[in-house]
Amino acid sequence: MPRSAGPEFGSDALIVCDNLVRIYQTGSVEVQALQGLDLLVDAGEMVAIVGASGSGKSTLLSLLAGIDAPTAGRARVGDWDLMSMTRRQRVHYRRHTVGIVRQQTARNLVPYLTAEQMVDLPMTLAGVPRRERRTRAGELLEAVGVAHCLGRRPAQMSGGEQMRVAICVGMANRPQVLLADEPTGELDTGTSAEVFGALRTANEQLGVTVVIVTHDPDVSGQVARTVAIRAGRTSSEVLRRSTTGADGEHEVVAEEYAIMDRAGRVQVPKDYREALALTRRVRLALETDQVAIRPDVPA
Ligand code: ADP
Ligand code: MG
Repeated sequence: MPRSAGPEFGSDALIVCDNLVRIYQTGSVEVQALQGLDLLVDAGEMVAIVGASGSGKSTLLSLLAGIDAPTAGRARVGDWDLMSMTRRQRVHYRRHTVGIVRQQTARNLVPYLTAEQMVDLPMTLAGVPRRERRTRAGELLEAVGVAHCLGRRPAQMSGGEQMRVAICVGMANRPQVLLADEPTGELDTGTSAEVFGALRTANEQLGVTVVIVTHDPDVSGQVARTVAIRAGRTSSEVLRRSTTGADGEHEVVAEEYAIMDRAGRVQVPKDYREALALTRRVRLALETDQVAIRPDVPA
């Protein structure tokens, strides 16, 4: 039962993670990989989720990919509730709603198949007629600049080409969401830019919503919205938009936001806390257009 009136949290978003929890249990040891993560992604967005190693990024992507199931909380992608999908629905979801590009390049590709055959495979599984498969494979490889790899096997392609073919495999069945786990983790700067270009093409020209997770903070310069994840929770967000300055020059403005969860919790950055020696107990004051946090000094 909803506890408050009004629309459901994120009711018009494409992806909703609401207080998402994933606990891994190995023997008597529990690891809380996600500890109440909130995230909303709108249809058509390209978002980067950035966090240190071990912060829960791959766990989040596995949940969104339908490979793994949450321990608690709510996750919805389009019309699918990821908590309550049956096995059959999960197969359908993974085949049609999401595409995934995995962290290690090699895990995305089959060594003895050509690029065209690899892009063809998910469509064959989905029962797409042969002619349509051929056309689609050709168009996808062309769109991300790897048409020349059509007849090549992975060993005959560079790392960047392999990754772009992997993006085509993920896009084959026209998913609503493309998930990419550290897509540029093994690549140099120039090659990373090509892979980002391919993800942007998928987003802007093919209309898929893209969620990228990475530990590389430089990636945030490549997307309009970056969400930081720390210890299994989203902690801050950077939005970039281009504006025209007074001198008529185009400039990109990046603004950092803190994330407030639904219980009202906000993480105050360490440098702010240290600057004013904010510790356990602070004073909160509601002012006309802001909420102030002050050190607890006796009056
Ligand atoms: P990231 O991708 O940000 O590096 P992960 O999602 O892979 O982080 O992992 C988050 C935490 O969960 C880490 O502490 C990791 O050791 C733990 N973890 C991930 N997968 C498993 C698993 N299958 N079993 C147990 N612990 C796991
Ligand atoms: Mg990872």
